[in-house]
Amino acid sequence: MSHVMNTYARLPVAFSHGNGSRVTDTEGRTYLDGLSGIAVNTLGHNHPALVAAISAQAGRLLHTSNLYRMPLQEQLADKLAAMSAMDEVFFCNSGCEANEAAIKLARFYGHQRGVDNPAIIVMEHSFHGRTLATLSATGSRKVQAGFEPLVAGFVRVPFNDLDAVRAIGERNKNVVAVMFEVVQGEGGIHVCDPGYQRGLRALCDENAWLLICDEVQCGMGRTGTWFAFQQAGIRPDVATLAKGLAGGVPIGVCLAGGKAAGLLKPGNHGSTFGGNQLATTAALTTLEVIEKEKLLANAVTVGGIIRDGLAQALSDVPGVVGVRGMGLIIGVELDRPCGDLVQIGLDAGLLINVTAERVVRLLPALNFSADEGRELAARLAALIRAFLSS
Ligand SMILES: *Cc1c(COP(=O)(O)O)cnc(C)c1O
Repeated sequence: MSHVMNTYARLPVAFSHGNGSRVTDTEGRTYLDGLSGIAVNTLGHNHPALVAAISAQAGRLLHTSNLYRMPLQEQLADKLAAMSAMDEVFFCNSGCEANEAAIKLARFYGHQRGVDNPAIIVMEHSFHGRTLATLSATGSRKVQAGFEPLVAGFVRVPFNDLDAVRAIGERNKNVVAVMFEVVQGEGGIHVCDPGYQRGLRALCDENAWLLICDEVQCGMGRTGTWFAFQQAGIRPDVATLAKGLAGGVPIGVCLAGGKAAGLLKPGNHGSTFGGNQLATTAALTTLEVIEKEKLLANAVTVGGIIRDGLAQALSDVPGVVGVRGMGLIIGVELDRPCGDLVQIGLDAGLLINVTAERVVRLLPALNFSADEGRELAARLAALIRAFLSS
């Protein structure tokens, strides 16, 4: 441990194995997993289809590099294009890399239109990653502090405020794109109004800007549709996915459609690991299981059970500001910092998270059962109630 760079405040627990949404620590205690590795373990732990697919692929090929054709990558690109109604897919290994690709694509698009200093409109409280460009795009001083100079070319506006975007567009002729999360995850589970999303789409069309949706956390079926933007009836020009796409194997994708498609050519961007056989097998299998087990519908049903259960159990509790979210991305906002609830949850056998200081965050696996949903809501509500009255 002492040789691991100290970049995380880790909880004093290590897990040895898991099954579905139950995980067991090295001391033999079991926990209900309400976080699924921060929206990564889409199918829970140890899903037999994913284990079998990864194991079989390991016996064939793990990686050949993008110097060669990869049929699995082509298959996954076809599948993602069909799911999103987008045209092409760039493969990388994480959320920040997917967003780097999106940012590079937007700048490239700007230069092609004669904008020498392209700028991207980004939101307050957004989170786009921790590389230099993505931390510069992120709306959190905590993420940026100490790493200045920031990458130039980002203009920040309040979330859900269309007039602010319009006003920037009128004064700043360098704008080439707008980038946002349909549900802000790290920022505290703030859901974007569908009308705002449609307004952004219209503004981008009027000004020939690219609309970029960061769906790294809220995508992959978590809100009940493959992409959260689909519920507003829009299609962005660029969308990014990562976390849950391969059920626990690192992967990231940047999808491009419409005027964003066909821009990048050989030599413009790349990734050594991006879209290798291990990652694409895991993603294809994860998508197949989501379809076969009807997990989009499950995310809506079980998400509703959890939100309703929490809202009911906490309705008379002073200190609870609200329960919100979409499908299985859920936040409970309290009126005070509540980071201590993470350890309290751990002691009680629940894996949960707190983000934006005052928001308890739940990101269960998409195959969380209705019973597990009721159990999570009841046990968490009891912990929140006790925490607020102590
Ligand atoms: C987690 C996250 C990222 C960064 O993903 P990494 O894989 O950690 O680089 C970017 N955007 C959003 C919305 C995220 O939730």
